[in-house]
Amino acid sequence: MKPLEYFKKNRERMLEELMEFLRIPSVSAQPEHKEDMQRCAKWLSNHCKAIGLNVEIHQTKGHPIVLARTPHSASKRSYMVYGHYDVQPVEPLEGWTKTKNPFEPVVKEGNIYGRGTSDDKGQLFTHLKAIECILKTGSELPFNVVFLMEGEEEIGSGSLSQFLEEHAADLRSEAVVISDTGMPAITCPAVTYALRGVLAFEVFLTGPDRDLHSGIHGGGVQNPAHALCSMISSLHDSQGRVTVPGFYDEVEPLSPYEREQFKKLPHNDESYKESLKLKKLFGEEGYTTVERRSCRPTLEINGLTCGYQGTGSKTIVPSVASAKITCRIVPHQKADVIMDRVCKHIENICPPTVSIRIVRGHAGDPYIVEPDSPKVQAALRALGRAFEQEPTIMREGGSIPITMEFKRKLGAEALLIGLSLPDDNAHSPNEKFSLECFDNGVATSVYLWEELSPLSS
Ligand SMILES: [Zn+2]
Repeated sequence: MKPLEYFKKNRERMLEELMEFLRIPSVSAQPEHKEDMQRCAKWLSNHCKAIGLNVEIHQTKGHPIVLARTPHSASKRSYMVYGHYDVQPVEPLEGWTKTKNPFEPVVKEGNIYGRGTSDDKGQLFTHLKAIECILKTGSELPFNVVFLMEGEEEIGSGSLSQFLEEHAADLRSEAVVISDTGMPAITCPAVTYALRGVLAFEVFLTGPDRDLHSGIHGGGVQNPAHALCSMISSLHDSQGRVTVPGFYDEVEPLSPYEREQFKKLPHNDESYKESLKLKKLFGEEGYTTVERRSCRPTLEINGLTCGYQGTGSKTIVPSVASAKITCRIVPHQKADVIMDRVCKHIENICPPTVSIRIVRGHAGDPYIVEPDSPKVQAALRALGRAFEQEPTIMREGGSIPITMEFKRKLGAEALLIGLSLPDDNAHSPNEKFSLECFDNGVATSVYLWEELSPLSS
C-alpha cells in the first residue's frame, strides 16, 4: 500500500487521535497546568511509540522536550522536524463561540476548532501522521528523521537553547522542517525562506533638571520634546528611507526570481488599505507593499513620552522626553552592527542644549535560506503536489528566534512550511485548523521526504 492510501483508510482514526492530543490543556504559561504539560509530553511520547518511533522524554527546568526518532540507519542522512505541544492560554473564554470549551475540540464547516488546532498541535500532527503512513506501509524513507517537540514555545523556548547545545552532536541535521507558521491562502501554499530580525532601544533626552514654568522659563531653555521630535523626524527622508548612514549597506537587492514569485501572493493594496481604514498607503519608494513589509529594513517609533499627559493643560517646559524605537532588519544585516550605527547617529544629531542617554534593549539577527536552494525547491514541489496549486516563496516580516538557534547550534537551516491560514485565529478565541490543510499537510510531508531524496547521498 502507498502511504497516502494508508492515510485515506485511517484518516478518521487519525483525526480522533488529534482530538485526544488537543483535549490535554497544555498551557505552558500557567502554573496550574504544569501537570498537564507532563501529561501531554507523556501522551505524545506514547503516541510516537505506537507509530514506530524511538522516544525519549527529557525533563528540563521548565517543561519536557520529547525526542522521537525513526529507526536509525547509519547510512542515511538525518533531518529534524520541530514542533511544540504547548499552547497559548484560552482567555477570554467568552470569545469561544464555535466550541464552548477550547479543550473540547469540534469539527464544523470543514475546520477543527479548539486551542492548539493550528498552533501547533495540528500542524505538528501532519508530520507525525506522514511518518506513520510511511513506516506502517513499509515505504522507503530516505532519511533518519528526528522529531523535536518542546513545551515552551509559547513562553520563549527557554530550555531549548541549552538542550540543543548539550545534544548538538546527536541532533546534527541537514535541515529542520517547521510547520508552525502560516500560508497566505489555501490556493497559495508557500515556503517561508526569510525572516526579519529586530532590535530595540530607548532614547532619553534631558533638558532642565525639573519641569519648569513655561511663562517664566519658556523661550530661555531648549524644550527636550522639541529636540527629540526634530531628531526623530530627521531619521526618515521624504521617500520613506531611513537616513542613518550605512543603514542599508548590507541589504542585498531582491533578485528578479524573488520579485516575480511575490507577485503570486494574494495581496491587494486597495483591500489592504480598506482593512486598516487608511486614507492612503505609505512606504519606501521603489518597493511594493509586500516587499516593504517583509524585505526592507525599517525604523519605527513605538512610543513617545514627554511632559504632562493628564486632563486639561499644564504650562511647563518638561525636563525629560523619551522615545522607544525598534528596527526590523533584513538579511544580511547584523543586529549589533545596525544597533551601533543607529545609536551613534542619534547621539551625533543630538543638539548640545540637552543631554542624551540611550538604553539598548533586545536584538536578534534576521534569517534567510537561499530561495533557489535544492531543499527549498524540493519543499515547493511537495506543496505543489499536495495542494495542487502553484506554490510560491515568501518572506515573513516578523522573527522566529528558534530558526537562528537551529542554525547556530546545529548548523541546520530551517524549512518553514506553514499550514495555518490567515483566519485561523492563532493565540485568539476560536482557533481553528482547516481539515483541507490537515489532509494536504500530511500529503506535503509524505511528498517532502520523496522530493528531498535525491539529496540523500
Ligand atoms: Zn506556534
